Amino acid sequence: MPLYDYRCPDGHYFERMAPMTAGDVSDCPACGAAAAKVPSRVALGGQANPGLSQEQMPQTWRGTHNGNPEYVGQLRRQWEGRRKLEEKYPELQGDQRPVLAHEGQYHHHPLRAGDTPTTLSPHDGGAPGASD
Ligand SMILES: [Zn+2]
Repeated sequence: MPLYDYRCPDGHYFERMAPMTAGDVSDCPACGAAAAKVPSRVALGGQANPGLSQEQMPQTWRGTHNGNPEYVGQLRRQWEGRRKLEEKYPELQGDQRPVLAHEGQYHHHPLRAGDTPTTLSPHDGGAPGASD
């Protein structure tokens, strides 16, 4: 039986053995939603690796091939969040450190792991006085 890839509306990926006559929809094991069949790597006709679409996230998909579909969905959501953030802040591309904050005072300079939070502003009047 061929192996098919499915993706549910919530973004969970999973694989399932299904007969050729099976429909294009299967229940998502993670959330139970109707998941649509997506083109399978196996169905690409034995070509040398044609490369996977970015949507399929090979580096994590392969790593969780037999893993928890919820885990895959979680990774996918994390990646999508990161991509949206990079669209908003192109300077983040290439910096793999997690972004800790990107709103408010960090709107123009997102705070990344390892950065020191800049909580003092020049107008804070918080300069230490000479005490001696
Ligand atoms: Zn799902």
